Amino acid sequence: MSSKVLTSPLSPAIVRMAGEVKPTRTEAEAAVRTLLKWIGEDPTRDGLADTPGRVVRAFDEFFAGYAQDPAEILKRTFEETDGYDEMVVLRAIPFESHCEHHLAPIIGRAWVAYVPSGRVVGISKLARVVEAYAKRLQIQERMTAQIANTIEEVLRPVGVGVIIKATHHCMSTRGVHKHGTDMVTSRMLGSFRNNPMTRQEFLAMVE
Ligand SMILES: [Zn+2]
Repeated sequence: MSSKVLTSPLSPAIVRMAGEVKPTRTEAEAAVRTLLKWIGEDPTRDGLADTPGRVVRAFDEFFAGYAQDPAEILKRTFEETDGYDEMVVLRAIPFESHCEHHLAPIIGRAWVAYVPSGRVVGISKLARVVEAYAKRLQIQERMTAQIANTIEEVLRPVGVGVIIKATHHCMSTRGVHKHGTDMVTSRMLGSFRNNPMTRQEFLAMVE
């Protein structure tokens, strides 16, 4: 298993800062009203009156990751290891993301593993790193690489492995309309890339 490394030189937050001034909430709601008219709806009818506000609030939640710095999440807590140097694996972390091509949901699970070299973090931090990257517009390959690269940069472990399995709603609800397929991506660094036994130990924990 391997995946292409797809990293942007600019984080999405920086790209946004370099772009236009952030629109107001009122402007964002007006944009939703425009889309409602685009599909042939009447945004003033009773059932839709509060929809623009709800959609914008949903976007606040879907894309909360832009306000989070995954490296900072990991930096905050290093714990005493007492020499623990075996693999740490957090399995099947559920996440919801959105594809950057269609804004359609990507629903999946991530397996995140590393072999520490002095620094370990609370496992909830690994889940929060997954979440911080998921709650942005994504492609699965880049999200996989970003999670692995951030753990490598902050914890400097012996190795890192990340596997993501996800279904892409842009593929099941439009386009080729294929249900029941999932996409698997992986990024292996350090011992996970170089040591077949480490890689096998990790893969055996991914059903
Ligand atoms: Zn898509």
